[in-house]
Amino acid sequence: MRSDLAARLEKLGSAARAYEARLTAIPRLAYPEGVRLAVNFTADFDAMLLRRLLNEPPMQKAKGEFGGRVGIWRLIELFDTHGVKATIFTPGRICELYPEAVRAAARSGHEVADHMWEHRVPDDPALERDHLGRAAAAIERLTGKRPVGTRSWHTHAALAEMGFIYNSHGEAHHHPYYERDSAGTHRLLNLPFHYSIDDAMYYSFAWLGSGNAAQRLSDTDRVEDLWWEAFMGQYRRGGYLNVCLHPFVSGRALRIAMLDRLISRMKTLPGVWFPTCEMLARHVLATHPAG
Ligand SMILES: [Zn+2]
Repeated sequence: MRSDLAARLEKLGSAARAYEARLTAIPRLAYPEGVRLAVNFTADFDAMLLRRLLNEPPMQKAKGEFGGRVGIWRLIELFDTHGVKATIFTPGRICELYPEAVRAAARSGHEVADHMWEHRVPDDPALERDHLGRAAAAIERLTGKRPVGTRSWHTHAALAEMGFIYNSHGEAHHHPYYERDSAGTHRLLNLPFHYSIDDAMYYSFAWLGSGNAAQRLSDTDRVEDLWWEAFMGQYRRGGYLNVCLHPFVSGRALRIAMLDRLISRMKTLPGVWFPTCEMLARHVLATHPAG
């Protein structure tokens, strides 16, 4: 019994050590001259795609559609008003459904990056590459620029083959970090976000088909307080903040007003940089190469 437990603990320990060995932190991240903190505003332009995949009820899908018709436009206007360069992670199918919004985002200088073809990554390697290639081509057709970033479960191998330079999907560190795939062959930069700075965690009832106990509709003042504290925590230590929004969630007028207040407040402090994820990724790759 005892030796059985010891063997299981050893197995867990070695799995943890193997995972740890795949990560390379950047402990002293140096920003460009005069910058103390980079804030990436990111929007996952899911609209109703994920709702469809999860086979959610019609009202949930309609909620998603609002993001494509109204929410995305309000977010673009908000970012433009503040001179914030955002990153819009866009599924390929969304390019077919809402091409004007994707074009408008690119015209304003925002980055349009990959968010899978239809919000899922097939297990079959050939099909995975087909999806990634289609999504990248759909974005390029509308923006004139091939995406170099993704927020997805795509494999490092497929991403490397198609010229992607970063993923913004992990949560293993509070700074950007490098992660090797389990085969140990490809290393990719990760710009981490966290669910505590994700609008859907506060405002999206029935998020991901969650049950009654997980229903949530926080008031905007509460979210503003929490995100301001998170921002200040990172600002004090020269950290990094990735704010994850969804047009169908944050595109509501009340929540846009909260973001407007929050960004205005962030801008009162010196040294706050609002780049696209690509701009930050290129800076990190140039100044802190994986080695
Ligand atoms: Zn998504």
